[in-house]
Amino acid sequence: MLTRRHFLGQAGATLVGAASAAPPGSPTAETSQPAWVRRPALAPVLARPDRLIDIAVCTRPFRAQGPRLEAQRLGRHTIVHHYGHGGSGWSLSWGWAQRALPLILATGERRIAVVGCGAIGLTTARMAQRAGLRVRIYAQERPPLAASMAATGWWSPDSRLCTAEHASPAWVHGWEQAARFSHRMFQQLLGLPGDPVQWIEGYTASDLPFDQPLPAPPGSDPEPDYAELEGRLADLRPRSRLLEPGEHPFRAAHVRRFGQFVFNLPAYSRLLYDDFLREGGEITTRRFDHLRELTGLRERTVVNATGYGARALCRDDSLVPIRGQTARLIPQPEVTYALIYRGHNVVMVPRRDGLVVQAQDPQDYGREALHPDRAASEAAVQRLAALFGA
Ligand SMILES: Cc1cc2nc3c(=O)[nH]c(=O)nc-3n(C[C@H](O)[C@H](O)[C@H](O)COP(=O)(O)OP(=O)(O)OC[C@H]3O[C@@H](n4cnc5c(N)ncnc54)[C@H](O)[C@@H]3O)c2cc1C
Repeated sequence: MLTRRHFLGQAGATLVGAASAAPPGSPTAETSQPAWVRRPALAPVLARPDRLIDIAVCTRPFRAQGPRLEAQRLGRHTIVHHYGHGGSGWSLSWGWAQRALPLILATGERRIAVVGCGAIGLTTARMAQRAGLRVRIYAQERPPLAASMAATGWWSPDSRLCTAEHASPAWVHGWEQAARFSHRMFQQLLGLPGDPVQWIEGYTASDLPFDQPLPAPPGSDPEPDYAELEGRLADLRPRSRLLEPGEHPFRAAHVRRFGQFVFNLPAYSRLLYDDFLREGGEITTRRFDHLRELTGLRERTVVNATGYGARALCRDDSLVPIRGQTARLIPQPEVTYALIYRGHNVVMVPRRDGLVVQAQDPQDYGREALHPDRAASEAAVQRLAALFGA
């Protein structure tokens, strides 16, 4: 069963169903407001393939049962496995790191190692430091080259994270606690120099009414039935609202507005990294080929935050690759809104380092990220252009 939501553009679209707007055409309190309230001036995206400046690919580390978080004894070492956060790694990182902390502290060690320097490794290291531990990161790659840096960079706490089948009430409770903790942390990071975390408005445009299901994209492979959970966090942000035709500039029959966190990944990862070093963190570039090699580390407590790398390192076939590709258009600081073109598999996020255009391919599931597919990103940019007319 293909879950359509992942072809809508993840989190922004989730609230579509949660909103309680009046039926289209009926007067609402907002439509009686002045035009400057109803139709904010939005700068158009210069959506042209010749403005593409970068294309990145990476693999979502997905496990049907959700992230692996458990301690394993290996000789005199304790390995705390902490990987498999699917399409939600940045969003859930703080909350899942908080969940990892008791396993780390239970070992009684004051110096620990974290293997991995992506979204999960960095935040786990920071949480351990906040708990008073000394931390050394070992990693093959660090930002800007770690795979996490190819992400879109927005709040998507239930994106390809766990299948509906595995989302037991206890699991969902743990997820919700983690998501709420992460959300609180991101609130604290708003308004900092360089905008590592930013609050923006976004628009979901659709040719079909929002209550009408989308047809399966041609040639799509089946994906599992994912747990859709974000409705449980509906109180954390303003409700999305269906707009009247005169309230937006986009060439689409149906448009909704929503609010959203954006992570400016270069500034945000730099902040995490600098904070880590400032609090005495150390980092060593190193690759491990076998889990047993971790027992050679002087730190006896080792967090395994190797993301998709854990599939090879731990011989863990429960990790399923889901390929993803993001491209950046030349930065346009005047574009301050996100855009999702529902049913056209395209998402645009206005990051400081460029307008990120995520092109989703219906055959991403089960595929590892390898080479960039420029034609796919160019096609996504052209689909985006259609929303602006010319
Ligand atoms: C296209 C795309 C868009 C996405 N957008 C979002 C989004 O908007 N919001 C969101 O929340 N999530 C998003 N995600 C998901 C998110 O990017 C991942 O969940 C997250 O990056 C996983 O982080 P990680 O730290 O586990 O893995 P990684 O970033 O892969 O980090 C793994 C670390 O371990 C190291 N490592 C791996 N193997 C070894 C080894 N054998 N020896 C030594 N070191 C090793 C690596 O070098 C690296 O430092 C997106 C994913 C994709 C593909």
